[in-house]
Amino acid sequence: MLPDQFGGPLRNLRLSVTDRCNLRCEYCMPEDDYAWLPREDVLHFEEISALVDLFIGLGVDKVRLTGGEPLLRRDLPALVAMLSAKRGLRDLALTTNGLLLTDQIDALESAGLGRITVSLDTLRRDRFLALTRVDALDKVREGLLAAGRVFGAPARRVSGDFLFKIDTVVIRGVNDDELADLLEAARELHAELRFIEYMDVGGATRWSPDRVVSRTEILAALAKRYGPIEPLPDDGPAPADRFSLRDGTSFGIISSTTAPFCADCDRSRLTADGMWYLCLYAASGLDLRGPLRRGDAPEDLRNLIASGWRGRRDRGAEERLALGDRRAFVPVQDLLRRDPHLEMHTRGG
Ligand code: SAM
Repeated sequence: MLPDQFGGPLRNLRLSVTDRCNLRCEYCMPEDDYAWLPREDVLHFEEISALVDLFIGLGVDKVRLTGGEPLLRRDLPALVAMLSAKRGLRDLALTTNGLLLTDQIDALESAGLGRITVSLDTLRRDRFLALTRVDALDKVREGLLAAGRVFGAPARRVSGDFLFKIDTVVIRGVNDDELADLLEAARELHAELRFIEYMDVGGATRWSPDRVVSRTEILAALAKRYGPIEPLPDDGPAPADRFSLRDGTSFGIISSTTAPFCADCDRSRLTADGMWYLCLYAASGLDLRGPLRRGDAPEDLRNLIASGWRGRRDRGAEERLALGDRRAFVPVQDLLRRDPHLEMHTRGG
């Protein structure tokens, strides 16, 4: 095991395959225009595969494909097939907004995708349009049904763990009156819902503390509707704390804003252009594309990654929490334009 400065292992890699997205969610990409990564900088599948081999050699056994919107990356099932064939990779998952899922789900599953998470913040068409600036809830619903068909079957759950999850960012005054509706929609689809506290990540230029609905508030609202809620046992360094309603329906809460899990965080992020970030809030990353394309020996690249992780002391979310007067993380839009790597949609959510 390769330990960071606090003894945390390198295990979980989030791999962004594109910085492009086909939605413009208010909490992630609220601006009218963006600076995109130059196309020639975006890693080819063979380059991604070579880097993943190095990460696996250093302890990574979980990879999640994300973006941007990963289904916009052409021929994604081919990458999934390359990665799923790797020995040592225990878990290959995908996070998507679901818009393009119906046409791709079977190819993704055949290629070896193991799990899927679909983001869904509202069940109401007018709200979806207001929140994402695209009138696409019907397409997303189709995608959810497709995900339910392929990954939702209860028989496919591995030791109680759902292969199909739905992630909902809860924002005060936007969708905080839909918690129970979303929970019930997820149950019908055989998915586990996870409520995510609105985070002040780069790109969330409209974030303010009063718009965050805390884990405590989420639990109180659900308890009011369903009665007592039981915490479920901790099952490792997963970011979500899991709970159960009286009827056995389980759900999760990811409370990175009010109760961060930095001490347990084993994640790092590789952007589509090969920048490696040790924390969602890190000011800078390590360029792996440069040495890879220069033809550096795999051993040198491996040492670069290993020494990066060994030196890691990031506690980004905890530091944000400790700030008294908390505002948007990168408030200056100019700064985001100059360095798209500061954005959540580039780092990979
Ligand atoms: N396009 C894919 C999707 O929609 O799932 C993957 C990328 S998206 C950046 C990944 C996740 O980040 C989504 O579930 C999204 O809701 C979440 N996210 C983006 N901005 C966020 C914010 N400010 N606070 C909390 N979660 C956020």
